Parts: sequence; structure tokens; C-alpha cells
Amino acid sequence: IIAIHNTRLGPALGGCRFIEYISDDAAITDAIRLARGMSYKAALANVPQGGGKAVIIRPPLIRDRGALYRAFGRFVNDLGGRYITAVDSGTSLADMDEVAGVTPHVSGTGQDGADPSPVTALGVFSGLQAAVRHQLGTDSLQGLRVAIQGVGNVGYSLARHLHDAGARLVISDPDPSRTRRCQDAFQAEVVEPDAIYDQACDAFAPCGLGGILNGQTIPRLQCRIVAGAANNQLADDAQGDALHGAGILYAPDYVINAGGLIQVSLRHHRAPETEVLHRTRALGDTLGELFERSRREDRPPEQIANQRAEEILYGQG
Ligand code: NAD
Repeated sequence: IIAIHNTRLGPALGGCRFIEYISDDAAITDAIRLARGMSYKAALANVPQGGGKAVIIRPPLIRDRGALYRAFGRFVNDLGGRYITAVDSGTSLADMDEVAGVTPHVSGTGQDGADPSPVTALGVFSGLQAAVRHQLGTDSLQGLRVAIQGVGNVGYSLARHLHDAGARLVISDPDPSRTRRCQDAFQAEVVEPDAIYDQACDAFAPCGLGGILNGQTIPRLQCRIVAGAANNQLADDAQGDALHGAGILYAPDYVINAGGLIQVSLRHHRAPETEVLHRTRALGDTLGELFERSRREDRPPEQIANQRAEEILYGQG
């Protein structure tokens, strides 16, 4: 299933998921929802891409994985470049190599694919700086206490940026090997996974799971900023209002975590790495503008972000 949501800004770009679904309808709905999300993300990341997503329903038994991805590649190729595919949940760079054997419309293969996590982390760091500037009125992170939930690929790299900027870290992750390397490298304080919500801190950075900002967790937060990499952090739209009402500045997840998309898009256009880093740092400026507008209009930042994306996508902005 390939869903193309909007190609006003350029060819649709979005990863290919290879996971199980309970029905064809569930898979189609997922592809459409994710494609729409990619349009919004690309619009605010200022990359020349539209939003698209592919879903391959994972069969119980995979007989010939290479043949599966070559067939998928032929489908991508039939679209003549309107959709560019990439890695997502369940797919690997090796799978994209198979796709690349039959179509040029793929970004991030075994040859050119780089881990997007460090770039994603750079964007989150830049967004966090913008949030601190807006909410705390300072350009320095020196001495601030930041709680990171999940110190995997992105969380660890974010911890490094924050440590280098003089922040104090409190972290959680159910994987002890991951917390240990942050303890060793950055003198991070480690707490049990559930205790991360109760930490008195300046900023909370969710970098593990989605859906963690909900009616149970938000009342426990003792921070003034939520800014992290995890996708779909708000359990539902009402949680954005709850954060705003509590005076907590929320950096919309799909804006702050767009560094990976910027990398995949710009590499596909053969842009130099310096350009990737420059555009990723600029996510902080985009967020700064969203925060200002949020304050002026007294509306949650994610509502402003959605509206801004729609203005770009549907031509009123
Ligand atoms: P990852 O799998 O490397 O790291 C996730 C970490 O979260 C793991 O260490 C895991 O043990 C931990 N975790 C799981 N449950 C937890 C819990 N209850 N409390 C605390 N930690 C928990 O993944 P990643 O690539 O670092 O991505 C992190 C998040 O950012 C994901 O939501 C991902 O979708 C999102 N994201 C990542 C990228 C990227 O470039 N990697 C880009 C955009 C968005």
C-alpha cells in the first residue's frame, strides 16, 4: 500500500513499514494517517517534499524477502517518482538495496544510508534551546536539569549535546546497559522508568515511546518544557490543551524530530552534509516562531504547528 497525501512542495517522501496488521483496512488507514503526518512534517522542516508512506503487510511466513522488496520497488517505480521510499519500522537498509535495484526512487540504501539518529538528536537539541530561550528567557543551558526518558540512539546523542552545554541529566531506560553508558559518559542520574515523570526539572525530553503524555502523567510533571524526539507523544489532542493550561511549553514532536527527514531528503538531492546540519539547526528557529505565535494567540503550539503546515500545504501562507 502506498499512500500519497500531498505533493505540492515536491515528491512525497516517507518510509516503508513492514509490520503485521489485523486487516487490510487497518493497514490502509495507517498508511493514510502516516502520509498526512509526513506532509505536515516536511512542510515545517522546509524540505522540498510532500508526504507519503508505504505499508507492506507482514505475512506470517516470509519465503523470499528479496523478491518481496523487488516487487515493492516495481510498484514504487510505476509511480514515476511521485513517491520516494525509505526505511521505517520493520525495514532495513538491505531491503532498500533490493528496492534500489529496480527503481531510483529510494533514499537511504546500504550504500548511502546513514543513521539518522545523530541528526535527529541535533534537531531536538536545537529545539530544546529555542524552548529554553522562550520559556526561561536564557540562551544558556548551563546548570539546567533535563530529564530524558529513553536513552537509545537519539536519547544518548541528545544527552551528549546537553552534557556538553553544561546541563545536568536525569535519565530513565528499562535497558540497564543504556543507562550505564550515560552514567559513565555524562554523570547522569538514573531513575526507575516510571519515576521520570516526577522529576523536578527544567525540561523533560521523551525519547522512548509514544503516547506518554496523558491524563495520568501530565499532572505529575514538574517541568516547564516538554521537548523530545519520540513520535506521537500526546496520547490525544486534549493533552496538548492540558500542557498549555498547566503552563508547560510543548515542542510539537513532528517538528522537533524532523532532523532524520531533513537528512533523508537532502541526501536524496545530493546536498552536502553542512546543509543537512544547517537546516536541522534551523528547526530551533521554526519552533521559536511557533512558540511566539502560541503565546500571542494563547493556543497550544501543536495547534499552531498544524495550522502553519496547512497554510503551507494548501497555499494560504
Ligand atoms: P531506540 O530504540 O534506539 O531508543 C528508544 C529507547 O527507549 C530504548 O533504549 C528503550 O529501551 C527505551 N525505552 C523503552 N521503553 C521505555 C520506557 N518506558 N521508559 C524509558 N525508556 C524506554 O529508538 P530511537 O531511534 O532512539 O528513537 C527514539 C524515539 O524517537 C522513537 O519514538 C522514535 O520513533 C523517535 N524518532 C526517532 C528518529 C531517529 O532518527 N532515530 C527520528 C524521529 C523520531
